[in-house]
Amino acid sequence: MTGEGIVGEFFSLKEGTDADLLAMQCGDFYEFFGEDAETVADELDLKVSEKSSHGSSYPMAGVPVDDLTPYLRALVERGYRVAVADQYETEGGHAREIERIVTPGTLLETTDADSQYLAAVCRDEAYGLALADVTTGRFHVATAADTDGALSELYRFAPAEVLPGPDLRAGEGLLERVRERTDATVTLHAAEAFAPGRARHRVRDQFGAEAIESVGLEADAAVRAAGAVLAYIEETGAGVLASMTRLQSHAAGEGVALDATTRRNLELVETMRGESEGSLYDTVDHTVTSAGGRLLAEWLQRPRRSRGVLETRQAAVAALAEAAMARENLREVLDGAADLERLASRAASGSADARALRSVAGTLSVLGEAADLVSETERLAGSPLAEVLDRPDREAAAALAADLDAALVAEPPGTVTQGGVIARGHDADLDEVVERHEAALEWVDGLADREKQRLGVTHLSVDRNKTDGYYIQVGNSEVDRVPEEYDRVKSLKNAERYTTPELEEKEREVLRLEERRYELERELFEELRERVATRAELLQSVGRALAEVDVLAGFAAYAVRNDWTRPELVDDRELEVEAGRHPVVEQTTDFVPNDLRMDDDRRFLVVTGPNMSGKSTYMRQAALITLLAQVGSFVPARSARVGLVDGIYTRVGALDELAQGRSTFMVEMQELSNILHSATEDSLVILDEVGRGTATYDGISIAWSATEYIANEVRCRTLFATHYHELTTLGEELPTVENVHVAVDGEPGSPSPGGTSSRSGDEPDEDVTFLRTVRDGATDRSYGIHVAALAGVPEPVVERSRDVLDRLRESEAVEVQGSDTGGGTTQAVFDLGSGQFVRDGDESAGRERPGSDGNPQATTERTVEAAIDPEAETVLEELGAVDVNETPPVELMAKVQEWQERMDEN
Ligand code: ADP
Repeated sequence: MTGEGIVGEFFSLKEGTDADLLAMQCGDFYEFFGEDAETVADELDLKVSEKSSHGSSYPMAGVPVDDLTPYLRALVERGYRVAVADQYETEGGHAREIERIVTPGTLLETTDADSQYLAAVCRDEAYGLALADVTTGRFHVATAADTDGALSELYRFAPAEVLPGPDLRAGEGLLERVRERTDATVTLHAAEAFAPGRARHRVRDQFGAEAIESVGLEADAAVRAAGAVLAYIEETGAGVLASMTRLQSHAAGEGVALDATTRRNLELVETMRGESEGSLYDTVDHTVTSAGGRLLAEWLQRPRRSRGVLETRQAAVAALAEAAMARENLREVLDGAADLERLASRAASGSADARALRSVAGTLSVLGEAADLVSETERLAGSPLAEVLDRPDREAAAALAADLDAALVAEPPGTVTQGGVIARGHDADLDEVVERHEAALEWVDGLADREKQRLGVTHLSVDRNKTDGYYIQVGNSEVDRVPEEYDRVKSLKNAERYTTPELEEKEREVLRLEERRYELERELFEELRERVATRAELLQSVGRALAEVDVLAGFAAYAVRNDWTRPELVDDRELEVEAGRHPVVEQTTDFVPNDLRMDDDRRFLVVTGPNMSGKSTYMRQAALITLLAQVGSFVPARSARVGLVDGIYTRVGALDELAQGRSTFMVEMQELSNILHSATEDSLVILDEVGRGTATYDGISIAWSATEYIANEVRCRTLFATHYHELTTLGEELPTVENVHVAVDGEPGSPSPGGTSSRSGDEPDEDVTFLRTVRDGATDRSYGIHVAALAGVPEPVVERSRDVLDRLRESEAVEVQGSDTGGGTTQAVFDLGSGQFVRDGDESAGRERPGSDGNPQATTERTVEAAIDPEAETVLEELGAVDVNETPPVELMAKVQEWQERMDEN
């Protein structure tokens, strides 16, 4: 549907772009037409009107030119790519052209202090990634050997937009997971941008020939990705390439692997409900600048593995923790710092105004003030903090600050078109123009007094307005004294307005000088902005150093206030925490501190304890203490020894997660599978229930074989909370597996029946249906294990689960694999009567077929009570008929709820 006129122009521009929406300037408005108008109106609550054009009528929605930015931001933040066509004058009238395509990864107008990455990923032998933040000029490249590595790198940067290379577009693997697991917009950018020759050329143009070698970027894929990102930034017209000065490379292996599930489970920057309040970041963020806050979020999401780096950070935090006065002064100084990385980008894109450049100057001087403060404080002067502040070129920073100070007036106006921006003494030409301009103005200012005296009149004034220009106004009572050279321009009710040849001459002079002055100021200002843009690298390094000091000082302030301690970092595989607390929970609860000890002989802890006793909290606390230690922070404990990890993996299969539809058994098994494949001996694994989404026997079998596999093959530090008491047998038999138990005294705080039923009320139907379907189709009824196999759980684990399951069904002995007693295996037997495993030779629960007398006493009592009520009797009958071991828990919960309701009705 194309028409003529404005609408026709709109559609033909739209056809030429691959953007989702087009905003086209028509005079004072940006207009959207057709479907675009409807989409925009829907998203932004705008009114749609009708535009008639050449016999047809089109929906139309518009926003005032000056208001475009917030609308644009809102659309782009919802994932749209919006083309903006500006109107310009031509000889015959107007024409319009697309100046920019604003996309989630190239949005400069963000108000969010978080980083905003645009990523490109491509693949030859390995994966190559490039990630750029247009708002700060950061540019990273990385390589990864496999899909999981590439995803982990992507999750770490949480990009707003991802450009997949042509080799990744066929529906499989990576792209699908990016779509499923991240909020990133996926944009299929021109395949040529990824072509190796072209990409290498671009990267070299941007960062210099040495950059490619210096970061070890022989890997073609990463260069191709970097080239594509640069091309995209250029093509979308963000105009910030000048601020991208440094190529940073992330050697695979220097960070701690954290997958998306783990980030979410540990609630690093947002809670499981998606709120920022209550996250780790929200709790520990005591930075005073937005750049500091952004860096902290980055650190928390990218813990490090290098002991050197971490101990340097720790030493700075320790020094700041001790020097309380200096720390608070330092934080006060930093409080005045603006976001230099962002300002560098704004200078490069030409959107920085005079006030922005003023705050560049002010912030550059903060560096000097902070450095002075540090060098004057004995405890800080010798600390790594001094090195952080020495990293940027302080002299260059001071010089640029002085230049800007000298060039700009102290409090410039918000606009650069009306003059008053450049200080006197900066430019001789300007000074001369200003002097003449001001002299002319002074002449005009003195004119009234001079004329009053000369003519002997009192009601005479000189003024200026838009229509009349300068004029002399004389009150009616005195117009007879007006001399001949006065030329009347206007009569008012009580006065007459005149001009004179001399005044007209001065007026022309004032206007000429004014125009010249504004023009000169604008030129000088643009020069200045240009100069700042060329110093983007300096601004970035100063901004980065100040942000780092801010984060370190924030850590110190937080540690002191909350009695946190400096953890000892070791290379051994251990984790020893004395009187540890959960960093977030301790803020809102009277927290009971607890200890934790894991080492080579105690690698795997099976955590049991009643519901709500604190198992999850305890395990997450272990993960968070490790994570905080590996960003350089102090930790919530009396003392801690943390063996550095290469990855933290978590999975939460707790019943409430399942019941609330936040997880399905398939997802649970995929997550387990990912951990079993990815974790190494140096990782920390947290398993909060495994196998709970399926029938009991299946669940036990899977949990059992996964435990054996982790303990015997992966050999990583693992905390595994389970309600399968059977698994504690493994703790007794496997040398590195130990049982720990969360003891509760006083109120157990277990959920009320009401709580339980309301949970099952939320249970999603698909879960149950899904499980039923699978079960009906499965011949051996072990659908849980089928799902595990489908989800990619390693074959030995699946096989072993089947084996364990068979034995459970037959109530046969299950030997513990990898046990070091009794020549490698021990017999453990599951006793259906007591519902427990017993060891070989244990007399207390017989080995012969149990079940004939489960617990006669209890059953009898209940039957007697219930017999009074016929409804209760049927409920009991149904209860007796349920095969607990073969019914998924969510289904059980629904049944229990139904029974409760029926009993309540009676
Ligand atoms: P579980 O995993 O055993 O069901 P959770 O870890 O979810 O239990 O904890 C249950 C409740 O107890 C939560 O509200 C948590 O905040 C609180 N809690 C856990 N550990 C502690 C502790 N050490 N001191 C005080 N409160 C705790």
